[in-house]
Amino acid sequence: MKLYEFQGKGLFARYHIPTPKGKMAENVNQALDIIKNSKLPVVVKAQVLTGGRGKAGGVKLVRSLDEANEVVNSIFGLDIKGYKVKKVLIEEGLEIKKEIYLSFLMNRNSEKITLITSGEGGMEIETVAKEKPEAILKVDIDPLLGIKSYHITSVFDHLHISDRELQKQFTDIIKKMYKMVTELYLNLVEINPLVIIKGNRILALDSKVIIDDNGVGFIKDFDAFKNYDDLTPEEITAKENGLSFVKLNGNIGCIVNGAGLAMATMDMIKHFGGEPANFLDVGGSSNPEKVINAIKIIRKDKNVKVILFNIFGGITRCDDIANGIKKAVEILDIKLPLVIRLTGTNEKEGVDILRSLGLETTTSMQKAVKKAVSLIGE
Ligand code: GDP
Ligand code: MN
Repeated sequence: MKLYEFQGKGLFARYHIPTPKGKMAENVNQALDIIKNSKLPVVVKAQVLTGGRGKAGGVKLVRSLDEANEVVNSIFGLDIKGYKVKKVLIEEGLEIKKEIYLSFLMNRNSEKITLITSGEGGMEIETVAKEKPEAILKVDIDPLLGIKSYHITSVFDHLHISDRELQKQFTDIIKKMYKMVTELYLNLVEINPLVIIKGNRILALDSKVIIDDNGVGFIKDFDAFKNYDDLTPEEITAKENGLSFVKLNGNIGCIVNGAGLAMATMDMIKHFGGEPANFLDVGGSSNPEKVINAIKIIRKDKNVKVILFNIFGGITRCDDIANGIKKAVEILDIKLPLVIRLTGTNEKEGVDILRSLGLETTTSMQKAVKKAVSLIGE
């Protein structure tokens, strides 16, 4: 899950990583009030879950109260890469001497935590990688050893930072960011730009934090950071109902118990020439409500022409799934054909329930998948 800039800075505050002073506003009037009571200049920053806000006109300096109205209105009206601006962060305007890029990421390829830095701060790192790759330094840090002074020295060498006082502040920030990534199990924490301002102070001017969805438990008071703004309405419904759902572009809707079986189901659909419309894992529990919610989510996708159930009952009980299907058929008026593979715990009970509804089942995954694919061909 991506965090907004202000949320990321909220995490920075917990780790005592310095940021500019700022306040949030949710509408034009609030923003103008804050600006009236602030020392000018201030910077007004659109809060959206995408980068490149600066270029899109989403980050603007307000030097005088006369300018405030126009700047605030223009930013609240923006749509940046499909994200409408609903909140702005208003921060003290600073005199920047140098902009630096600094990030840590959980690097699954090298199985390390990778520090990335460049002297070309403010520019998107992808652009720097393309246009000036020699400006980027990557340092792999073994999580078992932790961050060492030689890692930090290589950063100073690369960025030509020799001033002792700056080195001290910089070291402090690097160590705190590393602590943050490891303690909170983050996929990414990026500061772009990290700035050196007048008086030789270093501050995080921007933040980009990506939380690992499996690691949210490491964050205290996580509800303050939770946001679903990056998800489709279907993905939100799935999350709220305890289903793992990923939308894909095919036409065979899948409802499966267990992530491994769901992956295997998608593979087999492909193998027989079909295209899955989604990944959906109803999980190991036996809750008829989950089945109903799963069907509701899947049929919102107009591409779906058939719904394939692949249930291998273990902890999941086939009769619970069958009852879920039964309820769904009763209340949802399902027009799509259902192909059902059902085997395992309480199989007989499940099959009986479905048969009473006139629904065929099979115990063979292969048969079910072939059938679903053939229905698409008709
Ligand atoms: P992004 O474009 O979405 O990455 O937004 P940033 O928060 O990184 O801001 C973009 C750019 O605006 C920064 O790289 C700075 O050059 C500039 N900027 C932001 N805040 C200030 C500030 O307080 N003073 C000055 N002079 N420039 C700022
Ligand atoms: Mn930035």
